[in-house]
Amino acid sequence: MLPLADRIAQANALLSPLAVPHEGRLGRRVQEPEDTVRFPFQRDRDRIIHSTAFRRLQGKTQVFVTGEDDHVRTRLTHTMEVAQIARDLARALRLNEDLVECIALAHDLGHPPFGHSGEDALDAWMKQHGGHFEHNEQSFRVLTLLEKHATSVPGLNLHREVEEGVLKHSETIRHSLEADIANHADAIAYLSHDCDDGLHAGLLSMEALMTIPLAREAGERALSRGTFLRGALIDMMSNDLLAHSGEHIVFSLSMQRSMAALRTFLFDTLYLHPVVRRRAEEGKRIVTALCEGFLRRPDDKIRALHARTGGTLPEAVKDYVAGMTDAFAGEQAMETGFLPAKKRAY
Ligand code: MG
Repeated sequence: MLPLADRIAQANALLSPLAVPHEGRLGRRVQEPEDTVRFPFQRDRDRIIHSTAFRRLQGKTQVFVTGEDDHVRTRLTHTMEVAQIARDLARALRLNEDLVECIALAHDLGHPPFGHSGEDALDAWMKQHGGHFEHNEQSFRVLTLLEKHATSVPGLNLHREVEEGVLKHSETIRHSLEADIANHADAIAYLSHDCDDGLHAGLLSMEALMTIPLAREAGERALSRGTFLRGALIDMMSNDLLAHSGEHIVFSLSMQRSMAALRTFLFDTLYLHPVVRRRAEEGKRIVTALCEGFLRRPDDKIRALHARTGGTLPEAVKDYVAGMTDAFAGEQAMETGFLPAKKRAY
């Protein structure tokens, strides 16, 4: 085997000049000696996959509350689909696949239990306590503070390109193209798998979905190939992105419009479906009850977290509750008695 530096140089020669090179540009918060085998971003990927926050993704809602149907996406399988799509896009554009994979695998680590309803509940609660909650910022916090890789450094001590890549909406940071790829792969993944899950769960009808031009075209393609809607959607969106990306990662204007129409349709029919809404409201009640209860009666875990992270007590409560899986949050709400018995949903 060639020395690492030679292997990195060989691999860099295959990358587009627009790619982040394999040794990175921004470095880690705290410098470390390099591994002898793995490239720097491969190590970062391994730290993400081995984190407890990553394992907990399997118990967190994507759209459907976990544990009720084994065939729909959880936040873990969503994350894996995003990483797979993002890697394929990056390879086709000769961008840094390892970095794209890191950002994709880490992008939802800060997502609380019960999906966006959990996020709304935490945001509303934090606003009463002088803060706010946004899952991308929480993912950054997980990577840089809450998870531990070594006793001497807070967080996973990843390259800054990975940390900043999960902060999708920051206006102060110029994103790498790899971060943009991961972000667009997220949209490709959820638009296609939410159609799939919605149909499977019987909350979307194929007839209604076929009124949306992008879905209809994908449906026709799938039919002619003898495949399924999900793959055709991923294929259409990915190919459009690849055809229109160069110095920037962009979909064509017409694809942007088509995706917006599909997103609106999914919002109105699936995310606001009474069945999904009911679960979402239950999730919100659980999250709010846990936050209020733990602020009144912080347990040892929260006190230790508070001491370690050094923020306010509400922040420590928020970090603790945001890290929970759906099932653990439901159990905790019952065991602590924070959620009155008649409102217990789990
Ligand atoms: Mg996501």
